[in-house]
Amino acid sequence: MHHIDIELIEMTLDVMKYVIGRVSATDHEIGKPKKAEELKALVGETVTSKGVGGEYAFNLWKAHLAKANVPVDHPRNLAFVPASPTKAAIMFDLITSASSIHGAYWMEGAGGIFCENEAMKWIVSLTGLPEGAFGVFTSGGTAANLSAIVTAREHWRENPEFKREKGLIVTSIGAHSSIKAMAKVADVDIVLVDSEEHLTGEALRETIATLTEHQRKCLFAVVATGGTTNAGIIDDLDSIAKVCEEENLWFHVDAAYGGGALVADSVRHLFNGIEKADSITIDPHKWMFSPYDCGAVIYKNMELAKNAHSQQGSYLEIFKDEGAHGFNPTDYQIQLTRRVRGLPLWFSLATHGTDRYKEAVERGLELAQIAGRLIEAHPDLELVRAPSLSCVLYRRIGWKPEDYTHWTYENHKKGFALVTPTKWKNGDTYETCSRFCFINPDTTEKDISMILESMI
Ligand SMILES: *Cc1c(COP(=O)(O)O)cnc(C)c1O
Repeated sequence: MHHIDIELIEMTLDVMKYVIGRVSATDHEIGKPKKAEELKALVGETVTSKGVGGEYAFNLWKAHLAKANVPVDHPRNLAFVPASPTKAAIMFDLITSASSIHGAYWMEGAGGIFCENEAMKWIVSLTGLPEGAFGVFTSGGTAANLSAIVTAREHWRENPEFKREKGLIVTSIGAHSSIKAMAKVADVDIVLVDSEEHLTGEALRETIATLTEHQRKCLFAVVATGGTTNAGIIDDLDSIAKVCEEENLWFHVDAAYGGGALVADSVRHLFNGIEKADSITIDPHKWMFSPYDCGAVIYKNMELAKNAHSQQGSYLEIFKDEGAHGFNPTDYQIQLTRRVRGLPLWFSLATHGTDRYKEAVERGLELAQIAGRLIEAHPDLELVRAPSLSCVLYRRIGWKPEDYTHWTYENHKKGFALVTPTKWKNGDTYETCSRFCFINPDTTEKDISMILESMI
């Protein structure tokens, strides 16, 4: 096995060349999906008993398959929550793969986990949580929210009175779909405050007052959002924290999208109260310029997470041994085997410094303000609400829902832009409108005005 494998070297160089081309391209295609049958017709059988060969398969990727993806880092991809990983982070993502690090236990992954923890210290410092708070990297916001909900529920159930009860959480309709989905996984009930505008302590108190006696008994946690995915709205974390304290409820802040903005001085005050959270979700793969996948869950009290998540097994006991002492990421979230997915973030932070992160996030915020001004100045366009964080909801006067859909597909088909419609709840009605979400600091004012012009 130790001969020099020329084919392997050639393949490695080809892959590196492709990666360099991908990350240094300034105007790559936006790409669009094809039906599975169409892709099959283009590439034929690829998984065969003898294999089709790396070069052949790679060529299929380049010729057909790569183009059927919509890269989220395109400067005119402003749909959903896009992303914009730094080149440094991408390079170290390759190194993470090449290093075969098992990131569950310090015993096997000390070097990688050490780096993850350095990055995590910075993230935790942005939250203002007290000494002792810490976190782990997860596959994303969904896994982080689940890990936090389970920790809260297990802590609540330590009280024998609640041992056999199904728990209940309160959040608002502005909360991300993953909260509802993860409440199902954890088998807890959920009550939604019916407003997409920012949730306040007062509205929370009113909702709690409507609960039945049994519901109140089973209520164990409140989930506030630090930047709603739809509109960038930050709940009134400080007043919610107060209610949670008075009512003895776990306070979780889902800042999967908005958490990156904690670094931005211009909006940091909007998050006041986050330092009182029991747990926080932040996705570095959204606004901290990490490649997929990289989420994070942070706890005020790490011991509670360990009580909920630490796995037991005879073959795992060695990891708890003195000789292997250190930080074991598996103990604080739902996954055992895990990629050291915070490693690319660490390298990028070490390369660029945290000031560059601040500037890049501020640019996203500024782009939302620029878009807001362009929309207001335009006779055919109107803001649905003032831009919040980097989200902008706006309407094209006179358009019906199908006009927005048609426009989205036309722009996408041309390979020009991906901007998708959304709905905004206004009183009892939902209005279809258009939405921008800015993450990529390379998006330009010209990109925005070209997109707006295409609506005329
Ligand atoms: C994106 C998002 C999530 C889900 O995170 P994934 O990384 O996609 O799993 C959860 N909450 C909020 C507020 C989000 O924006």
